[in-house]
Amino acid sequence: MAKPAKTQFVCQNCGVSHSKWMGKCAGCGEWNTLAEEADVAATPGSGLKSSAKGRTIVMETLAGSTREAPRMPTSMPEVDRVTGGGIVPGSALLIGGEPGIGKSTLLLQLTAALATRGRRALYFSGEEATAQVRLRAERLGLRDAPVALASETNLSNILATLDAEKHADLVVIDSIQTLWADGLDAAPGTVS
Ligand SMILES: [Zn+2]
Repeated sequence: MAKPAKTQFVCQNCGVSHSKWMGKCAGCGEWNTLAEEADVAATPGSGLKSSAKGRTIVMETLAGSTREAPRMPTSMPEVDRVTGGGIVPGSALLIGGEPGIGKSTLLLQLTAALATRGRRALYFSGEEATAQVRLRAERLGLRDAPVALASETNLSNILATLDAEKHADLVVIDSIQTLWADGLDAAPGTVS
C-alpha cells in the first residue's frame, strides 16, 4: 500500500500554500479559497523530487548548428500557420477560447486530418460521451477517419493507455480541466 500522501492547502485564487486549513488566505486575503492538495514535493515517489541533485548543463554558442525542429504538417493550412508550420513532435499545445467557440470541433477535425493521413491519432474526450463525439464526426463528414476515440477523465487510465500504445503521433485531451488524478483530492479544474 502506498503511504498516505502529505497534503497542503493551496489558495485557488493566488496559489499560496498553507500547512493547515484556514478560512482566510494569508497570501491574498480572500475567504474560503483554500483547497486540500497532495504535497508532491513532500510525498515520496510522487514524481517531483525537491532534493534531487541537478546536473551540469553543457553550454552552447549562439552560432550553433541546430536545425529547425521537424514539424508534422496537419493539412489544415490555418493550424499549420498558427503553429509555425505544423506540430512539433513531443510538444504540448494548449488550445484556449470561449465556451462554444469551436475548440472541440477544431480538435476533432485536426485529429481526423492526421489519422486520415496515416498518423496514429488519439482523442480522449472528458466532456462528452463517445456517442456525442461520433455525432459531431458524422456532422463534419469525418465518420470514416481512423481516429482512436475514448471518453475518459482519469489521468492514470489515460497514461496507462498511452504507455501501451507503441506509437502515437497526436494525443488530444478535451479538455484538460476535466482530468483528475488519484493522488489529488482537489476537484478537477482547480489549480493543481
Ligand atoms: Zn490567496
